[in-house]
Amino acid sequence: MKKKFVTWTIVLYAIYGLLLGLYFFQWTDVGVPPAYEGTAADPTTFMTEKELELSQEYSRYKNFLSFLGEPLEWIIYLGVMIFGASVVFKNFGKQISRFRIIQIPLFVLLLQTLTTILLFPLDYARRWLSVKYGISTQSFSSWMRDELIGFWIGFIIMALLITVLYFLIKKFEKRWWLIAWVLMIPFLFFMMYLQPVVIDPLYNDFTELQDKQLEEKILALADEADVPADRVYEVNMSEKTNSMNAYVNGIGSNLRIVLWDTTLNRLEENEVLFIMAHEIGHYVMNHLYWNLAGVIVATFFGLYFTYHLLRYATRRWGERLGFTNVSDIASLPMFFLILTMLSFLSSPVELAISRNAETDADQYAIEMTQDPDAAIGSFQELTVNGLSDVHPPALVKYLRYGHPTMMERIHMLESYQGIDVKEE
Ligand SMILES: [Zn+2]
Repeated sequence: MKKKFVTWTIVLYAIYGLLLGLYFFQWTDVGVPPAYEGTAADPTTFMTEKELELSQEYSRYKNFLSFLGEPLEWIIYLGVMIFGASVVFKNFGKQISRFRIIQIPLFVLLLQTLTTILLFPLDYARRWLSVKYGISTQSFSSWMRDELIGFWIGFIIMALLITVLYFLIKKFEKRWWLIAWVLMIPFLFFMMYLQPVVIDPLYNDFTELQDKQLEEKILALADEADVPADRVYEVNMSEKTNSMNAYVNGIGSNLRIVLWDTTLNRLEENEVLFIMAHEIGHYVMNHLYWNLAGVIVATFFGLYFTYHLLRYATRRWGERLGFTNVSDIASLPMFFLILTMLSFLSSPVELAISRNAETDADQYAIEMTQDPDAAIGSFQELTVNGLSDVHPPALVKYLRYGHPTMMERIHMLESYQGIDVKEE
C-alpha cells in the first residue's frame, strides 16, 4: 500500500502541478477586458508599466504556489495513516500516560508538529516571494515569531476541541456530532469576543489612533451609523508589510475599529474615511453576525457529513490504517482529511456569499461618503501597494476571493459617479 501510495501521489501531483503551471502561465489572459479599457478600473490608467508588469508576475507566482499547496495537507494526512505514523503517535501517548486527557492532546501536538514541518518549505516560499516583490517588509526573525505564535495558539485551541470531541465520540457513538455542534456555538462566540483583546495583540501592537482629528471624523461617521465605538485603534503593520487594511472585529464590549498604520500613512484623509465607511457598512448590516450564523450552519452540516464519512472510512479502511474504532485517536488524521476536504468543497459558496457582502459594504460606503473620487483613489492605491491583480483568472476568483475583484469594485464606484464605461 505504501509503494502504491507514493507512486500515485507523485504521478498525480506532477500532473496537477503541470496543469496549474499551464493554467497560470499560458492559458490565462492577463489583459483588460475591452469594456473596462481606459476606465478607472483599467490598471494601465493608474499603474506605471513597471508596477503593472510586477503585479502580473507576482500574482502568477503567488497563485501558482497557493494552488500547489491546496492538496498537500490531504496528502500528509493520508501519508501519516498509510505509513503508520498515527499508530506510532498513539502508542507513544500510551507510554507517556494512561489517561486519555493526556494522550489526545499529545497526539494533536505530534500530528501538528509533523504537518507544520512538512508544510514549512511552502510557507517559506510564500514569504520569500512576498519579500522579493516588496510587499512584506518583515524580518525573518519576526516572521518566525509570528509562525510560532500561530503554532501554539493553533495547538491550544485544537487540543481543547479535539480532546472534548474524542471524549464525546467515545461516550455518544451516534450523537457525538450533534452534541459537538451545540457546544461549538458558545465557543465560537467566546473566540470572537477574545480575538481583538487576547489573540490579535500577541502578533502586533495596538494603540489608540494618534491622529486625533482623524479619529474625531471617524467617530462622527461611526456615530452617524450608530456604531457603539468610542475609540479607533491603529496597529503597527508597517513593520511587516507595505499592503493596507482596515477592519471591524470582536463583539459586545470588545468591538473594535482597527486601521493598519500603512493605510493611515499612504491614504488621504477622505480616502481613509471611505475605507472606514466600508467597515461601518459591515457593522451596520450585521455582517459579523451573519458570518457567524453561516459558520454555525456550515459546522452543522460539516459535522453531520464527517460523522457518516468517518464511520464509513473506519469500517472500510480502519483496520489497515491502524484504527478499528472511530473513538480511537489514531483516526484523527482521517477526521482532519474529511473535514478539510469538505471545507474545500464548500469554500466557493462561502466566498460567493462574502463577495456579495463586500459589494454591499462598498455600496453602503459610497452612499454614506458621496465621494467617488476618494473611493476610487483608495482602491487604486490599495491595488498599487499590494501589487494586486485587478482582474484575476476565474479559478482564483471563485476559489480564493472573499472580495469582488478590484476591477469590479472600482467599476461599481465609477458607475455610481454616472460614467457609462461602454461609451467611447
Ligand atoms: Zn469589507
